[in-house]
Amino acid sequence: MIEVKHLVKRYGEKVAVNDLSFTVQDGEILGFLGPNGAGKSTTMNILTGYLSATSGEVRIDGVDIAEEPERAKKNIGYLPEIPPLYTDMTVEEYLRFVFRLKKVGRDVKRDAHIADICERVYLREVKGRLIRNLSKGYRQRVGIAQAMIGDPKILILDEPTVGLDPKQILEIRDLIRSLRARHTIVLSSHILQEIQAVCTRILIINEGRLAADECEAGQRDRYRVLVEGPKSRVVAGLGQLPGVQSVRIAGEAEPGVVRYLLAVEPGYPIRRAVFDRVVQSGWRLLGLEQGRESLEERFLMATSGQRFVQGREEEL
Ligand code: ADP
Ligand code: MG
Repeated sequence: MIEVKHLVKRYGEKVAVNDLSFTVQDGEILGFLGPNGAGKSTTMNILTGYLSATSGEVRIDGVDIAEEPERAKKNIGYLPEIPPLYTDMTVEEYLRFVFRLKKVGRDVKRDAHIADICERVYLREVKGRLIRNLSKGYRQRVGIAQAMIGDPKILILDEPTVGLDPKQILEIRDLIRSLRARHTIVLSSHILQEIQAVCTRILIINEGRLAADECEAGQRDRYRVLVEGPKSRVVAGLGQLPGVQSVRIAGEAEPGVVRYLLAVEPGYPIRRAVFDRVVQSGWRLLGLEQGRESLEERFLMATSGQRFVQGREEEL
């Protein structure tokens, strides 16, 4: 299990990670979804002990990564954004090198261990080839294989399919899914479909903050409202209605007609109030339905547009 509490990372003035808290249960494939610059790689670098946090706490199976890094790291395999491959080595030479570097326990038989990993990530046929002669897809498998050396419980994979062609992407996704049987996995991507295809749980990160997670969506009533009217006034107008916790813009349904997503305290009879507010303001109500938003809408809400949250208006 991974526990992250109030994690903050500053680079000088720049706040890259801003009060991030979450836990990852054993057996999950957790996806970090967020645009470039959201803070995904920084968070992963801290989880794996490669970077120290400005403040906050990370525990890997109860072990604090800052206090006992060596012990915590035994449980983690890491594929960084740019994998540290030595391209003049063969696949096998490189994996032996990593085995030595990680100081894997004496009880583990090196060659059998490496052969087993190569089998599982489909590298057996290319074990003897120089890494520099491999395709990008195969190199990425070598990157994943090096993370698996020592059989860590947790695998952390930073944008594992970036730069691959469509066929390679599907192969790597299948591979990641197959690893779930033996590892808890945290992976990052800026591609929604990717996260959706592979992960069992999703955290949306934006500007260093947790913008949405699955749990949040379940505790509120959600309404999708289509209004023709001046955007910022509609956002503010709907945000003032009793029971409304937040109003966010989730795109345009047609020119001039905006789709708003309302999070409402459960049980508030919001529909009549929305209708009255829109009509009294001289706008047009073109749709009103209750239901959970799609992941696309959540991603959009979390990463763009104007919103009105519990009494304050902010421009994102
Ligand atoms: P992501 O992986 O989600 O694209 P990063 O974690 O790489 O995001 O970056 C988060 C933010 O921190 C970005 O704005 C980036 O420019 C900034 N950043 C990352 N590394 C450094 C660094 N070493 N020095 C200064 N700023 C950095
Ligand atoms: Mg990154």
